[in-house]
Amino acid sequence: MKCPCGRNKEYEDCCAKPHHNLSNALTAEDLMRSRFTAFTKADGEYILLSHHSDTRPENSDTVVAWAKSMKWLKLEILNTTGGDENDSEGTVEFKAHYIDKGRRLFMHEDSKFVREYGNWVYLGFNSMIQN
Ligand SMILES: [Zn+2]
Repeated sequence: MKCPCGRNKEYEDCCAKPHHNLSNALTAEDLMRSRFTAFTKADGEYILLSHHSDTRPENSDTVVAWAKSMKWLKLEILNTTGGDENDSEGTVEFKAHYIDKGRRLFMHEDSKFVREYGNWVYLGFNSMIQN
């Protein structure tokens, strides 16, 4: 199966790696991609695990219900700053395309990533435009 994150790789060679162990997300973009793939699978455990503990939702019920209610189409990475193997923070601007109740929509977000216990995690967003 091609990875839902849009890299031209098999899932097992792509987002499955961070899904098995968060430390396999070597860059903020890897983590972002693995989170998108987790949304396509409504994997609430990973969505929370890859979230900074300061900003993490208390439980995954809401996010899982929301993720399941969408048909996730594709992820577009528009821009990244920092977030490399030697960085401690970074940003990833992306568009996540989905269908909600028959309407084709996308979410455009500039996300902030930092390291927690050495691993990349999602801290929150600088800006979000929901279309
Ligand atoms: Zn992937």
